[in-house]
Amino acid sequence: MSLTITIIYDNNPHDPSLDDAWGFSALVQHQGKQVLFDTGGDGPILLANMQQLKIDPSVIRAVVLSHYHGDHIGGLQDMLTLGAKPTVYLPPSFPDGFRRQVNKLTNTVDVTPGQSITETIFTSGEIDSAIPEQALAVKSGKGLVIITGCAHPGIVRMVETIQSLLKSPIYLVMGGFHLGKLGQRKISAILEDFRRLGVEKVAPCHCTGNKARAMFVDEYKKNCIKIGVGSVIKIKS
Ligand SMILES: [Zn+2]
Ligand SMILES: [Zn+2]
Repeated sequence: MSLTITIIYDNNPHDPSLDDAWGFSALVQHQGKQVLFDTGGDGPILLANMQQLKIDPSVIRAVVLSHYHGDHIGGLQDMLTLGAKPTVYLPPSFPDGFRRQVNKLTNTVDVTPGQSITETIFTSGEIDSAIPEQALAVKSGKGLVIITGCAHPGIVRMVETIQSLLKSPIYLVMGGFHLGKLGQRKISAILEDFRRLGVEKVAPCHCTGNKARAMFVDEYKKNCIKIGVGSVIKIKS
């Protein structure tokens, strides 16, 4: 069964029928399971984009929140108020007040490193930094597909963490890489790290930064997938 990743929320435009707003959310569908990674910044925009993409929020059984920033957690409350009852997977350092709020409507799980969300979808667990964060990894037939929200602990560190936990080759790294403030030399070093780690394809979006995105295109050519809100990535596996 193929792996399908749909970008429901992103500040990069792609499908003109969807609202492009600051934030990130992606739906991962694999082996009959659906996992929502992040929820964008605004509930009404998230739900409107889902409706346009014919995604029914009530069938989503798992939501994984990457980190405690409004542009990643902002849509959750509206989704739950609508009646969706997913298990919400949180980094343990999330504030108790937030956890309590969510627990009024559904259950939460504090993640551990390498924990499985489904048979083929895993979390990195919380990666410590000034802004702690978890990334998602899918074991596809082509290798690991890694999705990051903002990659505040460092995109390379997050990819390395998952590789050491799951010990598989990396097919695709996608999401927000948070490189907007870095100069050319530092971005080049990150590209070298990606090559060293054997990352086959990339799909940077959200907070990656325009200069970094352009450098990824230069380096990866057709293996850099240009994505924005409404992009659908299908991987046969
Ligand atoms: Zn963000
Ligand atoms: Zn962030």
